[in-house]
Amino acid sequence: MAILVTGGAGYIGSHMVLSLLVNGYDVIVIDNLSNSSRESVRRVEQIAKKSVVFYDGDIRDRDFLDSVFGRHEVSEVLHFAGLKSVGESVLEPLKYYDNNVSGTLALCEAMNTAGVRRLVFSSSATVYGDPASMPIHEGVPTGQPTNPYGRSKLMVEEVLKDLAAADSQWSIALLRYFNPVGAHVSGKIGEDPFGIPNNLVPFISQVVVGRREALTIYGNDYPTPDGTGVRDYIHVEDLVEGHVLAMRAISRKPGVHVWNLGTGRGYSVLDMIETFKKVTGKDVPYVIAGRRDGDVAECWADPSKALDELGWKAGHCLSDMVEDTWRWQKNNPNGYS
Ligand code: NAD
Ligand code: UDP
Repeated sequence: MAILVTGGAGYIGSHMVLSLLVNGYDVIVIDNLSNSSRESVRRVEQIAKKSVVFYDGDIRDRDFLDSVFGRHEVSEVLHFAGLKSVGESVLEPLKYYDNNVSGTLALCEAMNTAGVRRLVFSSSATVYGDPASMPIHEGVPTGQPTNPYGRSKLMVEEVLKDLAAADSQWSIALLRYFNPVGAHVSGKIGEDPFGIPNNLVPFISQVVVGRREALTIYGNDYPTPDGTGVRDYIHVEDLVEGHVLAMRAISRKPGVHVWNLGTGRGYSVLDMIETFKKVTGKDVPYVIAGRRDGDVAECWADPSKALDELGWKAGHCLSDMVEDTWRWQKNNPNGYS
């Protein structure tokens, strides 16, 4: 039996594939390389000294999915494939609903046909919208995501809940990620966004490595301790560990399960800049600009449900996250290219 990882060439997916290989699982990857490079999977194979079955294909292609399920015995699917740029989703909403929602529908149909009904889905804290108080626990009703990307994640969650309600053979984990950052300790794989990074940590690390001149801080007038936005940054290795535990838990428990994956601590943009300065010994030039549309002031998790039910707790601190990010960026100033 093998585990199918959609989006396994991407940032989080590549770390997941490495962890699965190291844990002794056989892995099949499907990725259309729309936001990643084949090189990430090659490096994962080098580190693990084990190979994966790689398919360059699209999850919206039912015939292709059927052929993959027809060729392999798959026990479960870890579903990372999707588009994730908030700004792009505002400009091209149909592309996002097609990839993220239609892609997941096609995947679930193919899984149903193949009799594979265990799924771990990459959701996001964005489904909570802008809750009134922090920290956010899973019982907080999902809110109004402020953009098509967020709405696509919420729609998929609803679809998967309906699916599990209609057929008790399904076991589904909805993992709501807070802000994944960091890289594998080898420095060989990491986050390599195409074009200008949207997210804070890859942007800062490209500034520090000299690829970009200065960070733009989106707002210093939020009602937070230093006025800049506060987020719950979580090391990608902790995130991946949460998936392994969630995958094992749902193999024993049918139905839909929702878990936050965050550390339970918030850091501001200025905290992140200071940590980069300490870790790298380099300056982080920045300019202050207005708030970015759709941003919330603060967002951090109550991760206690994952601790109680999965025995999972994030182990890496902010300095670890920045050290590992920096090792990857310094060794690979131009990412995988
Ligand atoms: P990523 O872009 O690095 O990885 C996604 C991968 O999916 C890419 O390799 C891309 O080529 C592939 N892909 C996209 N559409 C596809 C399709 N139709 N068919 C096949 N492959 C396709 O992103 P990531 O940061 O690794 O995120 C993984 C998942 O986690 C995404 O679903 C994302 O929405 C979700 N997520 C990410 C974050 C974050 O901050 N990184 C936060 C919350 C949720
Ligand atoms: N941010 C910033 N400059 C950037 C990118 C992000 O000031 O170039 C801020 C953003 O406003 C937010 C925090 O950094 O307060 C985290 O943003 P990111 O896009 O990484 O995560 P998200 O907003 O999706 O939680």
